[in-house]
Amino acid sequence: MPHVSTPPPNFDVIVIGAGIGGLVTATQLAAKGAKVLVLESYLIPGGSASYFERQGYRFDVGASMIFGFGTQGTTNLLTRALAAVNVSLQTIPDPVQIHYHLPNGLDLKVHRDYEQFLQELTAKFPQEREGIRRFYDECWQVFNCLNSMELLSLEEPRYLMRVFFQHPLACLGLVKYLPQNAGDIARRYIKDPELLKFIDIECYCWSVVPADMTPMINAGMVFSDRHYGGINYPQGGVGQIAQKLVEGLEKAGSKIQYKSRVTQILLDKGKAVGVKLANGKIYHGKRIVSNATRWDTFEKLLPQIPAAEKKWQQRYQKSPSFLSLHLGVKAENLPPGTECHHIILEDWSKMAAEQGTLFLSIPTLLDSSLAPKGYQILHSFTPSWVEEWQGLSARAYAEKKAAAATAMINRLEKIWPGIKDGLEHIEVGTPRTHRRFLNRQDGTYGPIPRRKLWGLLGMPFNRTSIPGLYCVGDSTFPGQGLNAVAFSGFACAHRIAVDFGL
Ligand SMILES: Cc1cc2nc3c(=O)[nH]c(=O)nc-3n(C[C@H](O)[C@H](O)[C@H](O)COP(=O)(O)OP(=O)(O)OC[C@H]3O[C@@H](n4cnc5c(N)ncnc54)[C@H](O)[C@@H]3O)c2cc1C
Repeated sequence: MPHVSTPPPNFDVIVIGAGIGGLVTATQLAAKGAKVLVLESYLIPGGSASYFERQGYRFDVGASMIFGFGTQGTTNLLTRALAAVNVSLQTIPDPVQIHYHLPNGLDLKVHRDYEQFLQELTAKFPQEREGIRRFYDECWQVFNCLNSMELLSLEEPRYLMRVFFQHPLACLGLVKYLPQNAGDIARRYIKDPELLKFIDIECYCWSVVPADMTPMINAGMVFSDRHYGGINYPQGGVGQIAQKLVEGLEKAGSKIQYKSRVTQILLDKGKAVGVKLANGKIYHGKRIVSNATRWDTFEKLLPQIPAAEKKWQQRYQKSPSFLSLHLGVKAENLPPGTECHHIILEDWSKMAAEQGTLFLSIPTLLDSSLAPKGYQILHSFTPSWVEEWQGLSARAYAEKKAAAATAMINRLEKIWPGIKDGLEHIEVGTPRTHRRFLNRQDGTYGPIPRRKLWGLLGMPFNRTSIPGLYCVGDSTFPGQGLNAVAFSGFACAHRIAVDFGL
């Protein structure tokens, strides 16, 4: 292990990476008075929730369907994270979370209004009226427990005692659901195989595994908050969330440095004490937080993988990455009444296959300022493994990208005939692009269970087996999604703040 004779730390906390997980940790700690340095390898913050601009278009890199911007309860973690450093964002409510286009003509919308959604689903499966309500109502039970308490670090015993005494029933409720998966609960109430497949894709579209492997805690959160806090798009694009957090971080007296790729976490007698950048610069901190994925953190930034991490890797694997298509399309080529977010699947057996499920977001339907006048942004993406894109010559890679883009456009064209004729801008990102620009091993979307596990019990919290080193973001509890990584950021900052006595 590299050994350094450690000078006094320049910072209380060094955060590696300015994804939403890293920025929420940093801003929470800065707001409590800690001196934080965020080191980001890219030119702007946000990671998978960042943006890029081309010819008058502002494209979201990844996330577009945003939870956590509600105004009430405790699960509105993005609203809370911004407020903690005295910044805020205008958001635009989305009346429909997803418009599904599924096999056998199963076409339905998840309305913001819960009863309207249940009515629409029940109309497709009238024989399952009772089961549908019982399943989704049980999701609300999980959500109501979560939404009644402050969401902080489950690694902090005094917090656990406090919430237990304040909300004993909610806590017992959550403990009951912690080891359960959504599929087990769905099957308790629902028998229709096609409806169970629908529950699978309801889970798959954010957990990238079917309901049987999706923790009930996460399902309860997603399936209820979409009707409670709702889906709200940030005015100016998703990239604004990170920009605003950085504004708040700096206002609170802490720092962010771009083009600063960390290549090594420095250890002193086994404890994390600092980081080394690609340009050789060294910074010391009392605590080091990694917002890189666990694979990047433990396989690239440290000399050897700790035993605890090897064990975790036996339970969780990298999910696939995505093949992304960013289109600029003439607005008149989309029919009026089109919704913002869509999921398209033609064959149930292909749900989890390479380039099986197709996602589409049209954020300009909510915020027209993101594209030149008269044009819409269509961001479509589909799961894809990095192995599909490796070992190709530059020409073969370009041809494969072009063929994949055509295949995706043809699938969209079947639902919205005319898109092809309205195309003005096309840009394709492969898992290699995600790996390169998002700094994520194999471009992965995050960890998925290798087999059916006990709900969320196997997901690691923020502390690691290396003293002084914490992880935050989608490879920690509770997993992927902006609101989820914000949760992880609140928890990580809370655990560190308690150590510091802040
Ligand atoms: C195509 C796509 C669509 C998605 N859609 C949605 C959606 O609609 N809704 C939703 O809620 N979520 C969505 N997600 C998931 C969501 O974007 C992620 O779960 C979340 O943004 C991950 O945040 P994070 O903080 O864990 O990490 P990241 O966003 O990966 O950020 C990590 C940051 O650390 C930096 N970094 C890494 N290593 C180093 C290093 N060595 N030195 C310096 N910096 C480093 C990276 O450059 C990056 O900026 C989507 C993701 C993708 C890819």
